[in-house]
Order: sequence, then structure tokens, then C-alpha cells
Amino acid sequence: MEQQNVEQKIQEFVSIVEARNPNEPEFLQAVKEVAATVIPFIITKKEYNGKKLLERMTEAERIIIFRVPWVDDKGEIQVNRGYRIQMNSAIGPYKGGIRFHPTVNLSVLKFLAFEQVFKNSLTTLPMGGGKGGADFDPQGKSDMEVMRFCQSFMTELCKHIGPETDVPAGDIGVGAREVGYLFGQYKRIRNEFTGVLTGKGLAYGGSLIRPEATGYGVVYFCEQMLRTIGQEVAGKTFTVSGFGNVAWGVVKKINQLGGKVLTISGPDGYIYDEAGISGDKIDALLELRASGNNRAEDYILKYPEAKFFAGKRPWEVKCDVAIPAATQNELNLDDAKNLVANGVICVTEAANMPSTLDAINYFLDNKILFSPGKASNAGGVATSGLEMTQNSIRLNWSSEEVDARLKEIMIGIHKACRDYGKEGDGYVNYVKGANIAGFVKVAEAMLAQGVV
Ligand code: GLU
Repeated sequence: MEQQNVEQKIQEFVSIVEARNPNEPEFLQAVKEVAATVIPFIITKKEYNGKKLLERMTEAERIIIFRVPWVDDKGEIQVNRGYRIQMNSAIGPYKGGIRFHPTVNLSVLKFLAFEQVFKNSLTTLPMGGGKGGADFDPQGKSDMEVMRFCQSFMTELCKHIGPETDVPAGDIGVGAREVGYLFGQYKRIRNEFTGVLTGKGLAYGGSLIRPEATGYGVVYFCEQMLRTIGQEVAGKTFTVSGFGNVAWGVVKKINQLGGKVLTISGPDGYIYDEAGISGDKIDALLELRASGNNRAEDYILKYPEAKFFAGKRPWEVKCDVAIPAATQNELNLDDAKNLVANGVICVTEAANMPSTLDAINYFLDNKILFSPGKASNAGGVATSGLEMTQNSIRLNWSSEEVDARLKEIMIGIHKACRDYGKEGDGYVNYVKGANIAGFVKVAEAMLAQGVV
């Protein structure tokens, strides 16, 4: 088919999704990125033609929206909105995290659930895609307020999930503490001790390496990308954004492999530490997070030789590799231009959809090694899958065993992206590779299962 007709088909498809999902910019952004690479592929595959696969994949199988009332420490009643998007169960039970953040809305969770379908497929484990959350802001809340909120949230959610149906986990604002409270309430209401959530504490069915897994997986993926051009992590400089669980795992693994981390960031600005964020400074990230202030600036209270840049993002700092590990749309076209002008060779996404579409295209046009989060951050959910396996067989694997499986999975995802993303000149378009590789498995399962 002529290029012009292919573009037209993509545009027609996007217009339909746009009309059905008005006022959902994040969801549309994620769909556009997939459509641009998957529709040209579908056109070449006779068996996929006319099956409306992408049309079905962009329509959630089920969306649950519910009231979450709770009582704060002052005795006042608060009301939040809870969600669970059950996007696609063609290859396994819905699987994906829960996000508690004031920016949570239907569009954000639908984009995350849509990405999760492709990401989970890439892991090769039997997990469908889902996502959930609430517009609850854990910042500044007491432990008991967080517990009461989680209990109220799960009181409704427990009717819709289960180890064979839908297995949530953490995401922004949901860590070990929240997963514990959510699990406790599920068990209490359902009277079942099952692997219904992942990211659990080690005492009650959690997996070793799960806290580190997303970040470690990102760096394993980055290592594979660098090796395609004969380079290694050792000796490279890295800019990292965020200071949450993902950034922490990224920084830890970069240090283990001999790279130097120059930055981390928060909503308030970024930290530049010329000496490198290593040793006990890595644990300082955990302290920053535990403080509940959500301020990167507090880093310099402990390490005054570092510099803090208020209201800025770390993408103005010269580096070999950039790893956005904070949140969606944190790296725009101007940032991409800065990075490229400063000689970046690789951008490995650690957050979900941290780069805007025009930033992605700029990296691809400049032939930078660029990986989308759905491929490079899949180590988190992959290790959740390993946690589910351990729960099912009622055994716990050692750190070494889980880490080895994680690494093997990341190498496998990298290979799949390469196989589907390699272009004529040898450049690997990881966006195309991840979308097509993720799509194929789900599509095959959907075709086999009929029109459901
Ligand atoms: N929230 C994580 C993600 O974006 C992990 C999901 C999970 O472990 O189920 O992939």
C-alpha cells in the first residue's frame, strides 16, 4: 500500500478513537504512538485484516469507577474517586499497578492500562493488562489516614479482582505500605490468602528483588542497547529524573555496573551532584521518599556539595545516557533538543510515557538509541509475574534466581524489539519493535478466542 494511504488509515483510526474518547489527551497520545507503527504492520498481514484488532484493543474490556469515602484524622469525611481499568485479558488475568496521585483521572489510567497490555505481552509471561488508582494524594497524610483510605478503596475493589481475574500492584504513590493495607483488607473481606496483589512484603508472599526490579530491568535493557553500538554502562555519565522506587533501582544498578549518575529530581527541581550519586547517597533517595515531603531539594541538606536547580528538569545537563524515571510527559521537544545537542547517545525510558510524541520523533530522527517505557521498564511487572508464580507454587526463590530471570526477560524483550524494529540502515527503532512485538502475541490470542 502506498505510504499516503497508510498515513490516511492511521489518521482515520486515530480520529475514531479521538471521537469516542474526548478529553482524554494522555490516552490518545499512547494510542497514536502505537497506531503509527502497528497499523502499517497490520496492513501487511492478511490474517489480521478486517479483524478490528486495534479497535478492540483500544476499548477497555471493563472500567470500574467507584466512590472512596473515608474519614480523616480530624474526623472529617473525605471523598475520592477510585478506578480499575480492565483493558485486555487475552493472554492472562489483568495485571498492572495502582496509582494514588492527585493527577489521576480516566485518561491517565486508560493510557497506563493500554501501555500495560503491550508491556505485559513483551515480558512473555501470561499477564493481561490493567491499571487502577485514585485521585488521592498520600502526601501529608498520616499512616492511619492512608490505611483507612486503602481499606475503603479495597472494600469496593475486592469485588472485581482475584488471583485468576485481576492482580494489581504498586505504582506512583502505592508502595509496600499501601500494598500491605490493601492486601489485609482483601483477605479480611474475601477470607482468602492468595497472590491477589504483587509487590507484597517478604513476610506474606512478596518476592525478593521486586522493589529493585523496575530500575534494574531498565539498566539491563540500557546495557543491551549500548552493546548494539559496542558500548558499556561502565564509564558513562547518566542523568536520571525522579527519586522514587524506579529511580532508586536505576541509580543502584548503574553504580553496580560502573556508571556515574549526575542527577535526580523531584517536582520542585533537580539535584546535580558532580561527584556522582553513589554509595550512601543511593540510600538517601529512600530517605527522601520516606520523608513524605516529595522534595528533591532536601538532598542538599545531607550533601551540601551538590547543587539544586529549582523548577528545572535535568535534561539540560550534559550526559551520555538519559533515564527519565519520574512520570508521563516529563521530557518534551526542547528537552530532547538539549540532550541531542549535548551529545546524548541513549535515552532509556524508565517511567511510563515520559517523553512527548514530538520528543520521541526527534530522538528517532536523530538516530539516538531510544527505548519506550513499555519495553525498558517491563522488568517491574515481569518480576510481579515471577511473584505470582512463586505464590502459585508456594515457594520463594532466592535473590539470585529472581534477578537472573529478570535479566533473561529483559534480554529477551530487547531481542524482540530488535527483531521487529530493525530498519534498513541497521538502526533499531525500539518504539516500532516494542509495539509490534507486544501486539503480535495479544493479537494471536484474540484471533484464536473469536470476537470477544
Ligand atoms: N506499575 C508498574 C508498571 O507500570 C508495575 C505493575 C505491576 O507490577 O503489576 O508496570
